[in-house]
Amino acid sequence: EALDKILDIKGSIRVFCRIRNCLLMDNKKIMSPISTGPEKITVRSVGTRKEFNVDKVFPQDSTQEDVFLEVEPILRSALDGHNVCILAYGQTGTGKTYTMEGTNDRQGVVPRAIEELFRQVSKDKSASFSLSMSMLEVYMGSLRDLLSQRHPSARAMNSIPKCSLGILTGSNGTVEVEGLADVMVPDLKQANRWYARGRRARATCWTNVNEASSRSHCLTRITICRSGDKVEGDKVVSKLWLVDLGGSERLLKTGATGQTLDEGKAINLSLSALGDVVAALKRKRSHIPYRNSKLTQILSDSLGDGSKVLMIVHVSPSEDDVAETMCSLSFAKRVR
Ligand code: ADP
Ligand code: MG
Repeated sequence: EALDKILDIKGSIRVFCRIRNCLLMDNKKIMSPISTGPEKITVRSVGTRKEFNVDKVFPQDSTQEDVFLEVEPILRSALDGHNVCILAYGQTGTGKTYTMEGTNDRQGVVPRAIEELFRQVSKDKSASFSLSMSMLEVYMGSLRDLLSQRHPSARAMNSIPKCSLGILTGSNGTVEVEGLADVMVPDLKQANRWYARGRRARATCWTNVNEASSRSHCLTRITICRSGDKVEGDKVVSKLWLVDLGGSERLLKTGATGQTLDEGKAINLSLSALGDVVAALKRKRSHIPYRNSKLTQILSDSLGDGSKVLMIVHVSPSEDDVAETMCSLSFAKRVR
């Protein structure tokens, strides 16, 4: 409820910024940007100094727990019937997947969110809940079902066609991806098993996962069906989207050509479409340009009215990446 109040005041879009920890490859001499306050991040480079305000900065040494602590309240909104989108944005290598998936011993937002949802659901005696899960990948405008049950073994996943699943919009504005598997997850153990399977499916489809993940978006959806609070047969359905976006780096710098260039263009297009949608929502425009990309079409019923959006913008701690960092923080500024 406290969060609802905050969101009412600040609008339903929140923007966090996480600065990746220093890695071996980083030029350790000059660190920029740095966190200059709980809600302030400063980029310094030759001849420039620019400050950006966000809703929360996670400095370099912040932990997965620090991040989840700030994400957790928004999960309550999903259980209360709001659609929620948590999106990881940023240049490749800045820690989007680390934040969302994490590693075995440093779990990220998605496995923690799943665990927390089951904890909350088992505590809440006023209603009964059923949860289901979907995972899909958006790559160059086509969608791939990562939990497709038509391909039972991980090995067979290699051959999951990059089919174009259609997107259906209902009369009440709800969106459904045609034919997308939505598996019931009665308990945490089964949810974790399906989540692991989706991750494996994503990996086996590509020869180089890191390469693939930089040029595709990975979406995990938890659908929460809540019933029986007041009226018998009363049902509230909400969606929690957890999105690991494709890398936001600009193409010129990477010197990409051919297929890689096309992939990069597709990602850049869909990320700017996402920025356009969120910026239009923010300004309460009458027309929201959802139709400009598959990504925004899929998320269209979870970004607008009554939904809660959390964008976690990731940046590198190194001055070498300062140009990309500026772009990412400008994106943050635009959508906030
Ligand atoms: P992205 O998904 O944005 O391309 P990754 O999540 O793959 O980036 O991160 C790149 C590398 O940096 C990975 O090896 C990851 O484990 C590591 N890494 C990212 N963020 C952190 C962090 N906050 N602390 C420690 N290591 C990190
Ligand atoms: Mg990644």
